[in-house]
Amino acid sequence: MRTRQVVLVGGGHAHIQVLEALVAEPLADARVTLVVDVPIAVYSGMVPGVVAGQYEATDVQLDPVALAHQSGVGVTIGRVTGVDPEARTITLVTGEVVSYDLASFDIGSTVAGLDIPGVREYALPTRPIGRFVDRFAAFLDAQRDRAAGTPLRVVVVGGGAGGVELAFTLDHRLKSDTACDVSTVLVDGGPRILAGYADSLRRRVVRRAAQRRMTIRTGTRIRRVDQAAVEAVTGELIPYDVLVWVTGAVSQTLFKESRLPVDERGFVRVRSTLQFEQDDALFGVGDCATLIEYPRTPKAGVYAVRQGPVVTRNLRAALAGRPLERYRPQTDFLTLLNLGGGVAVGAKWGVSFEGRWVMRLKDRIDRRFMRRFPRPRFPTESL
Ligand SMILES: Cc1cc2nc3c(=O)[nH]c(=O)nc-3n(C[C@H](O)[C@H](O)[C@H](O)COP(=O)(O)OP(=O)(O)OC[C@H]3O[C@@H](n4cnc5c(N)ncnc54)[C@H](O)[C@@H]3O)c2cc1C
Repeated sequence: MRTRQVVLVGGGHAHIQVLEALVAEPLADARVTLVVDVPIAVYSGMVPGVVAGQYEATDVQLDPVALAHQSGVGVTIGRVTGVDPEARTITLVTGEVVSYDLASFDIGSTVAGLDIPGVREYALPTRPIGRFVDRFAAFLDAQRDRAAGTPLRVVVVGGGAGGVELAFTLDHRLKSDTACDVSTVLVDGGPRILAGYADSLRRRVVRRAAQRRMTIRTGTRIRRVDQAAVEAVTGELIPYDVLVWVTGAVSQTLFKESRLPVDERGFVRVRSTLQFEQDDALFGVGDCATLIEYPRTPKAGVYAVRQGPVVTRNLRAALAGRPLERYRPQTDFLTLLNLGGGVAVGAKWGVSFEGRWVMRLKDRIDRRFMRRFPRPRFPTESL
């Protein structure tokens, strides 16, 4: 039988587990290639902990390339920019073309609103997340020499889970590591922060924000950014010294530009087998794919993590001509938000909780995940 070509695009939360499984049991009669834009992957769940000063930047890095080498998987470093399902080829930004019999995409998402004037120039977007970690470190270094009492105004735009964690952890870190007079504003365009989360979780976050003298501004949609302030649609200006942009997930343009079936945010539509809507040879997992049957599934790493073993089994089944497994997302997941200072809040099934023990629980869960995978031997700045 001809050796089939299987291509894994992206080294995110799902594919790292595919690679892990291939170390134990390679795919039969197939040559596998991993294509990643950067050789180091970042575990986003611990990034607020880096901002808080709990972890080093290198503590949150994973090495999909080392895992690929262990499992006999070839590696190509380069950004994928297109797919041609008819020719069964994947195109890289370098112009290189990779052929596939089966391919799986786990390329994550990008931040919404990057086309708002001034955002690209002045804001720190949270995607790519490795670059965010590097830029945060450079920003923090620059603040340490500032004179005591200098105002340091932090604005975080986006009141989802990531925005809440970054507003709190930034506020905590800057107050403890600099002598500046730190003030933090969390801005959201909707009527409330943490839309879609338990009300009691939101109340705990709002209470903690008040205790730390942080400001939460809801119903404030930003239309423009300049180097000193963000401008709301009402014309109001909110001044900042550092601006973090974490306004939710949208897709890279790759799927739309390849004329594949996508949802309204550009994410590729997949069936419950994790195969593309009209193509049995292409799989999509994690943030980059929207389940046709469960389109409201949040773009959260926990779903990408659960999809890893399923896509592994389905790649094996597809190669063997066996029926594929159906993935059904869990209806709720344990939310744990790092608020800095060793404190976290959490919720599950509508019940919320907070405290140091919640942070210890989050730390234990995150470290357990990280321990499964190799870490870069020579940690570098993300590319
Ligand atoms: C600050 C912050 C905190 C978060 N905390 C949590 C949390 O606690 N729990 C939770 O469930 N979710 C959390 N999230 C959401 C979580 O980050 C995403 O849902 C998760 O990263 C999605 O995983 P993924 O595997 O789809 O993609 P990613 O983990 O983003 O991986 C994508 C991979 O693809 C590669 N890649 C990207 N584009 C290309 C390309 N064009 N060509 C080749 N390779 C490419 C990347 O380098 C990377 O290897 C957080 C998000 C943020 C911003």
